[in-house]
Amino acid sequence: MDLFEYQARDLFEKYGLPVLPAAIATTSEQAHDAAAKIGGKVVVKAQVKVGGRGKAGGVKVAADADDAKEKASAILGMDIKGHTVRTVMIAQAAPIDSEYYLAILLDRSNRTFLVMASVSGGMDIEEVAHTAPEKLAKIPVDANRGITAAKAKEIIAAAAFPADIASQVEEVLLTLWKVFQSEDATLVEINPLVKTVDGKIIALDGKVTLDDNAGFRHLDHEALIDHAQANALEAAAKEKDLNYVKLDGQVGIIGNGAGLVMSTLDVVAYAGEKFGGVRPANFLDIGGGASAQVMADGLSIILGDTDVKSVFVNVFGGITACDAVANGIVQALELLGPKATKPIVVRLDGNNVIEGRAILKAAAHPLIEQVDTMDGAANRAAELAAK
Ligand code: GDP
Ligand code: MN
Repeated sequence: MDLFEYQARDLFEKYGLPVLPAAIATTSEQAHDAAAKIGGKVVVKAQVKVGGRGKAGGVKVAADADDAKEKASAILGMDIKGHTVRTVMIAQAAPIDSEYYLAILLDRSNRTFLVMASVSGGMDIEEVAHTAPEKLAKIPVDANRGITAAKAKEIIAAAAFPADIASQVEEVLLTLWKVFQSEDATLVEINPLVKTVDGKIIALDGKVTLDDNAGFRHLDHEALIDHAQANALEAAAKEKDLNYVKLDGQVGIIGNGAGLVMSTLDVVAYAGEKFGGVRPANFLDIGGGASAQVMADGLSIILGDTDVKSVFVNVFGGITACDAVANGIVQALELLGPKATKPIVVRLDGNNVIEGRAILKAAAHPLIEQVDTMDGAANRAAELAAK
């Protein structure tokens, strides 16, 4: 589960990381009052679970409470990469001297934890990683040892943090490790970690992903779930008698048969690792005899999930043959019309597969892409979701 920035900030504060006073608001009036309480210059920040808010206009400095109200009313309701802003965070503004980058993450491919650190932090860290990878230090961390003072010094040297802030960064690294380990996170990221003009180190933006598999030993994590979106979709699915479970990834999944859908979740999660950790967005089993209407209902639920960036329809024709399913998909898209907006990767196999594929090919719908194998289709769907 990914946390909102304000939730990450609260978690950081609980462990003693340096953060600034902040409060959340869902109306511009609340934003005004929060800003008045904090006093002075504040930053109004869109709370959406997606990066690049700053560049999208979702982070604005406000001079005072009235200005904060104005900025909040512009940001609330804004759409950032398909996420509607329902909440803003009002934070005390920091006079920034330098912006750095710090993250601890689970490096699945190397079966270790990894620290990434850079003195070129801020909004363009992805670009730094691409164009000047030598400026992004990557240091493996042994799970049994964690980040010790010696390890922290090694990281600080590798990333070339300036000497005047070394001891503060060391403290941040030790504490950030505590957050990562104690909360069973798979990612804790601070970007930017800033040095203020008077030389203080502060975590200005936080991103945290918690490991849902460890949820049983963190009953307090339950309270961090964003129920608003998940519940609306699950209720809509229930009304249509669809077997649907919302997950927190980006690839919408539709399949026929629970076993097939389960294995589809696995191949998508596996393929997604190559594309920055893209994951399945849901479980949706449309059952054996999927009519066009059932396919349309399933697609419309999945397309209604703002987290979904691509859809993978994985069908193995049995009693309901592939040609019937293909006709169902074509009719479903006709039914949905302009409501269908995301790329759909279809993999058909089994009974009457030749006829089914021919029907989709003839329909030549601009959103549909056919891939013949399950792995290939999972790969393509993950790639499209990462774009
Ligand atoms: P992101 O774009 O979603 O990563 O949002 P951030 O919270 O990282 O904010 C983006 C940028 O806004 C930062 O890199 C800073 O340059 C700027 N920013 C954020 N908070 C402050 C602040 O308190 N003072 C100033 N001057 N700039 C800020
Ligand atoms: Mn940031």
